[in-house]
Amino acid sequence: MNKFIPYSTQEVTDDDKQAVARVLSSDFLTQGPEVENFESDINKWCGSNYSLAVNSASSGLHLACVALKLGEGDYLWTSPNTFVASANAALHCGAKIDFVDINKSSYNLCEQKLEEKLKAAAENKKLPKIVMPVHYSGQPCNMAKIYELSKIYNFKIIEDASHALGATYNKDKIGSCKFSDITVFSLHPVKIITSGEGGIITTNCNELFTQLKLLRSNGITRNKNQFLYSSHDDWFYEQHCLGYNYRMSDINAALGRSQLKRLKSIVDRRKFFAKRYNQKLKGLPIILPFCNGKHTSSNHLYPIKLDSTQLRKKIFYYLRSKNIGVNVHYIPVHWHPFYRKLGFSQGQYINSEEFYGVTLSLPIYANFSIDAQDYVVNHITKFFDNKLYEEG
Ligand SMILES: *Cc1c(COP(=O)(O)O)cnc(C)c1O
Repeated sequence: MNKFIPYSTQEVTDDDKQAVARVLSSDFLTQGPEVENFESDINKWCGSNYSLAVNSASSGLHLACVALKLGEGDYLWTSPNTFVASANAALHCGAKIDFVDINKSSYNLCEQKLEEKLKAAAENKKLPKIVMPVHYSGQPCNMAKIYELSKIYNFKIIEDASHALGATYNKDKIGSCKFSDITVFSLHPVKIITSGEGGIITTNCNELFTQLKLLRSNGITRNKNQFLYSSHDDWFYEQHCLGYNYRMSDINAALGRSQLKRLKSIVDRRKFFAKRYNQKLKGLPIILPFCNGKHTSSNHLYPIKLDSTQLRKKIFYYLRSKNIGVNVHYIPVHWHPFYRKLGFSQGQYINSEEFYGVTLSLPIYANFSIDAQDYVVNHITKFFDNKLYEEG
């Protein structure tokens, strides 16, 4: 039996280890110079004015909502085809959550459905304060259209780009915030690069940046220029708002920053394996992942679609029995018991539900190998050629 092949995993090099070891022998373990350097490297990569490292994307999404003053009585709309953290961020603010179903081919929040829902919401005076598109699998959403709608219906945009570090929209990097107020990346080990746990927020707005920075550190500022009461003493600091401790440590930042140096290579290798899957799986009775020629995906996931729920279940267990860590992304958020208690039910967002029923994420990651990929491809081919789906 081969070694277990996960659907995604981190790549940690000797350089990464040395970068972390250097921090361990330095003066700072908590947020220090390495965090600042990491943030400035992120700005260089994304083309953003400001960036903030935080301890997870979940924290980052929450902070983004707080900074945009989402609160009681407000609505945030997101896609049901996402990790629960996207929707939870709104609930943490005491706001209400609603969903916009996905497009059948891109699996991303559908901009036509968004427009229809906005029209209806304008009549009921229930327009969202924030819309949070999620770049599912690393494939960018239709940001220009969502941005255009935000100008008509007056909402803010947070990109949940947890999957999409290294992806591009037109010629711009995701994270440039050209069509959004705030972008959030995840640095969890299954994502594009990792800091252990971690997240990154980018924005071009100085006011939001100042607010986010306060919120990240318990609402505290040590910047004398920001003080509301004058004090010339060096021990002084002021709390200006109710914040959190969402800081990233220098240990994590060193790992993230070292990984960021080879982001291009990491994304190129994911791209290589995605293309290779496309070639090898062509001709089998499966639908290959959506690909928009105009924008480039970071290929965080490689989601295929099967002809039926039954077939997906069979191939899932078949591949798992071969030590292949296929997975399913995502259980529609509104299906979770917690969300049902809020009043959501099955059948509400049918495209997301149908997609969930038939999708399967195949292994893909930067240090995947040709041998491991061939092993996966051969088993998928065998499953269909030998009609293994007729068994059991
Ligand atoms: C991973 C993920 C998150 C949460 O990221 P953490 O860094 O683990 O908090 C949020 N949204 C999406 C779409 C994700 O995939």
